[in-house]
Amino acid sequence: MNCMKNYLIITILLISTACSADEMEFVGDNAYSILKKQCEFGARVPGSDAHTECVEYLVSELELYADTVYIQEFKKPVSYNKKGIIFKNIVAIFNSDGNDEIMLCTHYDSRPFSSVKGKPTPGANDGASGTAVLLEIARIINSKIPNKQIKMVFFDGEDGGRNNHLDEWFIGSKYYAKNYKGSKPDICILIDMIGEKDLHIYKEGFSQMYNADLNDHVFNIAYKMNKTVFINEIGYFVQDDHIPLNNAGIKCIDIIDMHYEFWHTPEDTPDKCSAKSLKDVGDVLLEIIYE
Ligand SMILES: [Zn+2]
Repeated sequence: MNCMKNYLIITILLISTACSADEMEFVGDNAYSILKKQCEFGARVPGSDAHTECVEYLVSELELYADTVYIQEFKKPVSYNKKGIIFKNIVAIFNSDGNDEIMLCTHYDSRPFSSVKGKPTPGANDGASGTAVLLEIARIINSKIPNKQIKMVFFDGEDGGRNNHLDEWFIGSKYYAKNYKGSKPDICILIDMIGEKDLHIYKEGFSQMYNADLNDHVFNIAYKMNKTVFINEIGYFVQDDHIPLNNAGIKCIDIIDMHYEFWHTPEDTPDKCSAKSLKDVGDVLLEIIYE
């Protein structure tokens, strides 16, 4: 009987160890499910029902894990809706008492246009991938509190501009940057289009100009972790949400793979993305959070 009891205790210990290890680890399949879930709402075009449902989903998930979750809301006319659309940046703060601050950002909206007239971009890689990685990280931060404060910002209205109308893009991050108050984060990283199966993340040129130290640091960490999807060469210069942030003095780098075959097409769907790609990026971000 005693012996049985010991076995039972050992079994319980083993099970609980297994659970806690899992809780601390970035699970690629979790992130991939979050990516798919967003796409199931439809294209998250600002002003659409799919967008509203996605906001509700993201806020309710973040509320499970974060100290504070709030929506920064504003109205703005756009080319596809002259009356104006209510845009919603979603902000979540973890471990408010932490010393240094890490800000992680992404965009969650889908493009109202695509390569096919009349069709939006489903935004599996372009929108849902970065959002999925941050939500899976939120789960982990909640089970293993870092000593830093983590702020996540999910930008709206990144992708609604017409070609050659730069003023119509990055609506959420422009608004956020313009209204930013308080001290600047010590580290700020934007992730965008990091979910495709054939992932190759080169260094983004503006990031290297704005914050070479941080950009080098992230790629060095990826190298040490043997994350070969990160390639330590400048591959492209990209206009993205990090530009308005840097213009406001928030030194942000962009982790992005700009070589995506299905970019801004109706084929940007979950089957083009993989759990492994999401995990590769999530693991590197977690290393930075806990270093
Ligand atoms: Zn886009």
